[in-house]
Amino acid sequence: MKAEPADQVRLLDLQEIDSRLAQLAHRVRTLPEIAEIQRLDSRITELRDRKAVVATTLSDLDREQRKAESDVEQVRARAERDTKRLDSGQVGSPKDLEHLQAEIVSLQRRQGELEDIVLGVMERREAAEAEDAELDKELAAAQAEREAAEDRRSSAVLEIEADRDNEATRRERVAAEIPGDLLTLYTKLRDQYQGVGAAALRYGRCEGCKLALSTAELGQIRQSPPDEVLRCEECRRILIRTEESGL
Ligand SMILES: [Zn+2]
Repeated sequence: MKAEPADQVRLLDLQEIDSRLAQLAHRVRTLPEIAEIQRLDSRITELRDRKAVVATTLSDLDREQRKAESDVEQVRARAERDTKRLDSGQVGSPKDLEHLQAEIVSLQRRQGELEDIVLGVMERREAAEAEDAELDKELAAAQAEREAAEDRRSSAVLEIEADRDNEATRRERVAAEIPGDLLTLYTKLRDQYQGVGAAALRYGRCEGCKLALSTAELGQIRQSPPDEVLRCEECRRILIRTEESGL
C-alpha cells in the first residue's frame, strides 16, 4: 500500500485521539464512585434485611403482648367473680369456702406471673424499637452517602463526556484527511490489536510493541520508498517513519 508520508504521520494523530477516546471510555467504566455505589447498595440491602427481621420480631411481640394481656384479663375477671361469690356469703359449706379461697389465692399468683410476662414483652419491645430506630438512622446515612456518590459520579461522567465530544470532533476532522484505504487498514488493525493500529518508529523501536528493530530490518526500511506503508514485522501494526525514527 502507498500513502503520502504526511498522511502516514497524520495517522499517528488519529491513533493518539483514538487512544485518548479509549482512555476516556475506560475512565467512565472504572470511576471509583461506581464501586462506592455498589458497596453502599449492599449496605442498604443489608440494613433493609435487618429492618425486616426487627419488624417480624415486633409483630411477634405485639401478638405475645395481646395474648398475655388477655390472659391477665381472664384471670383477673375470674378472681373478681370468685371474690364476689365469697363476699356474697352464699357459699355455705366450709369445704367449698376453703376451695374458693384457695382458688382466689392461686388466681392472684397466676395474675402476677402473667403481668410479669407482659412487662417482659414490653421490655423486649422497647429494645426492638430502639434497634429499629438505630437501623433507620444508619439507613438514612447510607442513602445520603449513596446520593452524594451518585452526584459525584454524574458530574465526573459529564466532564468525561465533554472531553469525549471534543475528541470526537477532532477525530472527524483528522480522519477526513486520511486516504480511505489507509484508514480502513488502520481501523482493522486497531480493532485487532488492543486499540493500537499505527505506531511510530522511534529511535529504531516500534512504539506499538516496544521492540527494537534489527539492523537488517532498519536497513530494509531505509531502502523503502517514503510513500510505502510499512508494517512492524513483530506486531503487524502500521509502522510510521518520523524525524525521530533514527534512520
Ligand atoms: Zn511493533
